[in-house]
Amino acid sequence: MSLSYSPIRDAQGRVVAVSTIGRDITERKEMEQMKDEMISAVSHEMRTPLTAMLGYTEFMLDNEVPADQQREYLRITLHESEKLNELIGNFLDLQRLRSRKETVTWRPLPLQPLLEETVALFTRVSERHHITLDCPSDLPRICGDNKQLRQVFNNLVSNAVKYSPKGGAVRVAARREKDCVVITVRDEGIGISPQAVERIFERFYRVNNTACRVFGGTGLGLALVREIVTAHGGEVWVESTLGKGSTFFVSLPVA
Ligand code: ADP
Repeated sequence: MSLSYSPIRDAQGRVVAVSTIGRDITERKEMEQMKDEMISAVSHEMRTPLTAMLGYTEFMLDNEVPADQQREYLRITLHESEKLNELIGNFLDLQRLRSRKETVTWRPLPLQPLLEETVALFTRVSERHHITLDCPSDLPRICGDNKQLRQVFNNLVSNAVKYSPKGGAVRVAARREKDCVVITVRDEGIGISPQAVERIFERFYRVNNTACRVFGGTGLGLALVREIVTAHGGEVWVESTLGKGSTFFVSLPVA
């Protein structure tokens, strides 16, 4: 433990008290190491979308490009900017959460509108998947932060879509189980091996397979999910069969 002292003065500038701030050195070292890891992983991941965005815009400025081709290049540039935005968002959120700087607003929340919003968002984004929601209207409220929980469901559904083939079904469901609400996100995708299941909630962990290489990512999404769910007094886990699909479970205490 390291202690730092700072004087507290009255209006005349006289020291009237001394405040002591204790900081755990190990925790600080861990934070610094985490920052270094994050900076190198994130800057590496930023390169790919940035290179595409730079390449296409430069090409359009330097050449006479037909209108339909321009649209295609703009579409790619937009897609890459969205990826970059998601990456930076996840990175900042995780960092804020880890350093406990995020101001959270806890209130009793109905989950149904949040889940409906997530399902509607991904139905718009991905026409290639059939996304459904099964949520009873009398589901009890849970206590939490709307913005953070939205991020949890968005990350889980985003992965379900990303790691499953065209036409695959993604089923989001919620039910009460004793003193908890359990939310499940089930996909019919590539699945996760038992060895990888042990590690997917770690920061920066990504399975080394074709889908992961094709789609890119940072390995921060599920770390963020775990961080948020744990802060809400809940748990997150996964059941998966390689080649068949995965089901992610989030349990949150009833308010
Ligand atoms: P990212 O998707 O950015 O790589 P995540 O932290 O969200 O990072 O996920 C970590 C890893 O877990 C992914 O790289 C992927 O290998 C695996 N994974 C996550 N969700 C799924 C899923 N629904 N199906 C198969 N693999 C998944």
